[in-house]
This record gives sequence, structure tokens and C-alpha cells, in this order.
Amino acid sequence: MSSRLTEIFKAGLNNPVNFGLHALSKVAPAKLTQRYLSLCEQSGLKRPAFLLSFDCDTKKDIRVVRDVHNRLADIGVTPVYAVPGQLLEAGAEVYRDIADQGAEFINHGYFEHSHLSADEMIYESSYFYDELTPEKIREDILLGDKAVKDIIGTAPKGFRTPHFGTFQSKTDLAFLHDVLTELGYNFSTSTAPSAGIKWGPASKRFGLTEFPVTGCPSAPFRILDSWSFRYAPGRKLNENDYLEQTAVMKSLLDRGAPYLVNIYADPSQIYDWDDFFTAMGTMARYNVASYGELLELFSNRQRT
Ligand SMILES: [Zn+2]
Repeated sequence: MSSRLTEIFKAGLNNPVNFGLHALSKVAPAKLTQRYLSLCEQSGLKRPAFLLSFDCDTKKDIRVVRDVHNRLADIGVTPVYAVPGQLLEAGAEVYRDIADQGAEFINHGYFEHSHLSADEMIYESSYFYDELTPEKIREDILLGDKAVKDIIGTAPKGFRTPHFGTFQSKTDLAFLHDVLTELGYNFSTSTAPSAGIKWGPASKRFGLTEFPVTGCPSAPFRILDSWSFRYAPGRKLNENDYLEQTAVMKSLLDRGAPYLVNIYADPSQIYDWDDFFTAMGTMARYNVASYGELLELFSNRQRT
């Protein structure tokens, strides 16, 4: 590892107890992140790239998403949207406006899979694909595809599994990619950071290109999402931990070597968090506005 990298990792590891790394330190996080970086370099990715996507799983997202989108546009970041079909229907006007501004919409299934409590503090998940029959999963994907076409007016090219963390086995992913291939899609972003550490930032091992979400540099198996750091009940992580990790990601992007940051958040979980916008702004110069554009940044040397 270069001394520059050592420095960057140290910056992210300087508070391992607060960050809850004591367990993960056993698996040498810096080594795992180093492996992800090496795979990024071997993947054919042409430059450092940062893609932000939004899962819009509740009606509250409809209320706040327009402002969130505009605020990010002002700082040079265009997010990609993953909205379940039922919520696309509920927020059709808002989402159409955002699509008109050039945002990419991917298929995120049809049925609602998250419920927000009356005080808007607790997100309760449902509709886990690992608990559904293959027929039901297929139905959700096909209806989700139709909803994007009907409401947004363009055919989605990619998919994100609802609560993808529970749907990660090789059989799950092979099944998923078969359905997506049938629909003519060319990517999925439905895998946890461990897939990136195993297979790299853009693997074709299940058929289509799979873009795993990127793990925290200091805890490479951990997803950097707004729920874990701001809303998960009993969480040990906090906003500062999130900002520390994005700062390390920014430093890794600044090296200039190929490195993909593929992270997501929920608009309803960040709309009132100024530091989130500042953090995204620090990575804006690397922003890739769509997965379609990201695919073009990979040469044909993708790992299989
Ligand atoms: Zn979702």
C-alpha cells in the first residue's frame, strides 16, 4: 500500500471504537478496501466516478424530493432515482418533473416495501424478495417496469432490488438477472459491498453488469446509507461517522485512479441535513449522472 493510501486509511480509522469497527478490524478493513481499489483499477473503469442514487420508498420522499433534487443540481450532482411503482403513481407529477430535468429512473419493483410511522421516525420494511415466490418477484419486477414506462415515459435500463441485502445468493442473483435480461435491461445495482470486494465494481458474472453499492472505506462490508447512520433503531453509527466515511471516499477519488463510489440514500432521510449536501458537493466533480453513463466509463475489460 502506498503511503498516501496509508494516510487516507488512517484518517478514516482514527476513531475505530466510535465507528464500531472493533469487530470488523479483525478482517483488516484497509486490506479489503485495497482489494476493492485494485479491482476498480483492473475493471477498465476510465476515471474516478461518483454516482448517487435515491431510493424513494415512502410518501414523505414525494414531499421533499423536488427540493432535494434542486439543491443537488445547484452543487453539480445529479442523482439516479429508484422509486417503487406504487409511489411513482402517487407522486407522478413530481417524479415526471425530475425526469424532465434529465434524471435517470430505474425499476425498483412495484409494491411499496417500506412504511413510515406517524411520527416519521421509524421506517418499517416489508416485501422482502427472499420471502416471496419467484412468481411474485417476477410480477413485482414486471409491474415496476411498466410503472416507469407509464409514468416517466421512458423504458428503464436497470433495476435495484427492494431491500437487496436479503437477496444476495448466487441463485437469487442468477434468477434476477434472467428476468432483467428478458426485459432488455443492461444493468442491476442490487448487491451489497461484499460483492464489490469479491467481484469488482462492475461484474458480469450473473449476466448483466452488476454494480454493487460501495462499502465504507473503514468498514468495507458496511453500506453507507442514510438509514443506518440516521434512522436505524439502536444504531451505534451517527452523522459524523457518515461524514468521516464520505471524506475518505473523497480522498480516494482525489487520487485520480479508477475508483467507483456507488452510494444511495433516501431523500426523506437527508433533506434536513445540510452536511449531507456539503459532503456530496465535495465529490461533485466526479459525479456521473446515470448508470447508463457509468456503463460507458467501463471498457470491455470488465471482470467476469
Ligand atoms: Zn426501496
